[in-house]
Amino acid sequence: MSVLKLENVSKSFKRFKAVDYMSFSLDEGKIYGFIGPNGAGKSTTINMIAGLLKATSGTITILNEDVSNKNIRKYLGFSSEFPVFYNDMGCLDFLIYMGTLCGMSYKEAYKEALYLIDRLALSSFENKKVSSFSTGMKKKVGLAAAIIHHPKLILLDEPTANLDPDSRLEIIEIIKELASDNKTILISSHVLSELETFIDNVLIIQNGKLVLDASMEEVQRTSDNATLIINSKDQRLRAFLDHKAYIYTLNDGVYRVKVDNDAKSSIKKYIVENDIDFKELYDENMSLNDLYESITKGERHETDHS
Ligand code: ADP
Ligand code: MG
Repeated sequence: MSVLKLENVSKSFKRFKAVDYMSFSLDEGKIYGFIGPNGAGKSTTINMIAGLLKATSGTITILNEDVSNKNIRKYLGFSSEFPVFYNDMGCLDFLIYMGTLCGMSYKEAYKEALYLIDRLALSSFENKKVSSFSTGMKKKVGLAAAIIHHPKLILLDEPTANLDPDSRLEIIEIIKELASDNKTILISSHVLSELETFIDNVLIIQNGKLVLDASMEEVQRTSDNATLIINSKDQRLRAFLDHKAYIYTLNDGVYRVKVDNDAKSSIKKYIVENDIDFKELYDENMSLNDLYESITKGERHETDHS
């Protein structure tokens, strides 16, 4: 079932088109990486989904209801790129307040706020004013506020920016748990290598346009330059690769062979059938970063000619 659907959504600021005819839909229980360079239109898109900005044209529906419908608010969690807090509230009070705003009872909100504060290692700050928190701590409170009411759709705009590595991992762990609990998550970031390890799908945006909408499986399958890494001292392997004219480099006993899928299976078959001794054998898939680079470079190339 699609939890969120954008159809031909555009947003203009005066004559500038920040989001240009964007369409995509998100399925239940999946984590979507929303990736693009600064100024690509990620925050503008997320703010429209969150109902903070009105689209210039197009439709956005959450669980088949238009985004302007107030009833859907309880299904939606949102953490902004630059979270804003009520200045004089302590962390615990703030989270309880946010929970009750989303329809939770005080008791439920209190219990969940305590759990999240503990989970995000903020316990020693629970009564401190959020306004005095560091940027990273504010991000964590922003995340807690976004998920306290167990929303079905969670929008996280750069949730790991400005966080130390431990805090990043904490947040990523929480995101994975949310997905396994069937929540749908849209997470924007430009730290591609980080997203790549845990997202199910990737949406790449550039100049307000969606340029890629694919599952990570598809991304890995379509990498035509996959490299096979084989750590082996066996001379027969080298003879085989030479004989087949496969292109490889050999460094410290490690072969890196650039091959397509057919060649890959033929090499693996040879290794197994001839009992070739190896320490390591694995596929080095094209990283999301490589893909991102290839897409954005291609785009730059096009504009060079215009
Ligand atoms: P991202 O989050 O991908 O970095 P944004 O969505 O924040 O990008 O911005 C997309 C583009 O829209 C940028 O060029 C930005 O300057 C412009 N923009 C965003 N908000 C406004 C606004 N309120 N008024 C005018 N231009 C804006
Ligand atoms: Mg942004």
